[in-house]
Amino acid sequence: MHEDIREVLLSQEVIQQKVRELGQQLTQDYRDLNPLCICVLKGAFPFMSDLVRAIDTHLEVDFMAVSSYGDSTQSSGVVRIVKDLDASVENRHVLVMEDIIDSGLTLSYLLELLRGRNAASVKVVTLLDKPSRRTTGLKPDYCGFEVPDAFVVGYGLDYAEKYRNLSYVGVLKEEVYSD
Ligand code: 5GP
Ligand code: MG
Ligand code: MG
Repeated sequence: MHEDIREVLLSQEVIQQKVRELGQQLTQDYRDLNPLCICVLKGAFPFMSDLVRAIDTHLEVDFMAVSSYGDSTQSSGVVRIVKDLDASVENRHVLVMEDIIDSGLTLSYLLELLRGRNAASVKVVTLLDKPSRRTTGLKPDYCGFEVPDAFVVGYGLDYAEKYRNLSYVGVLKEEVYSD
C-alpha cells in the first residue's frame, strides 16, 4: 500500500468485479444502440478504460475535460470546459462515464450541455457516488459503489494530481493535507 494511504476502501479485485457486472448490464442495455461513451477527464480514465472493455457491443469513445475543483478538496462551484468533445452528440445515445459524483454540480452542468446538443439519450455511469454530499437532484443511472463522506484517491482520483495511478481506492492520511 502507498505510504500516504490510511485505508483501502475498495481493493483492485472488488473494483474489477464491479466493472465486469456493470459491463454486462450495459452490454444488455446498449445492444444495437452504438453508444457514444464519454470519459470525463481526468479522473474517469481508468474506469472508462476498464469499463468499455467489459462492454460487449459496438460503441464509440470520446473525451471531455471539465474543471470544478483545482487542487483543493472542495468544489469551487464553477464549472469550466477545458476540453470539448470531438464528436457530435446529435441523435446519439450518450453514456457519460464518471469517477465520482459528489455535490453533482459538475455533472448537472455537463448533462444540461449534452441534452442541449440534442443527444437521443444521456445517461450516467459512475464508479463512485457520495449521495450524502449532493446539493443537486442528480442520480446516476448506473453506479459502482456508494462511498462515505471522505476524500478518496486512486483509480483515477487525485489529490493535487497525485495518486491517480493507484489500482485501488483509498482514503488519504490526514497529514498529507496539512503538509
Ligand atoms: P461534484 O461537482 O460532484 O461536487 O464533484 C465532482 C468532481 O469532484 C469529481 O469528478 C472529482 O474530480 C472531484 N471529487 C469529488 N469528490 C472527490 C473525492 O472524494 N476525491 C477526489 N479525488 N476527487 C473528488
Ligand atoms: Mg470526474
Ligand atoms: Mg481532482
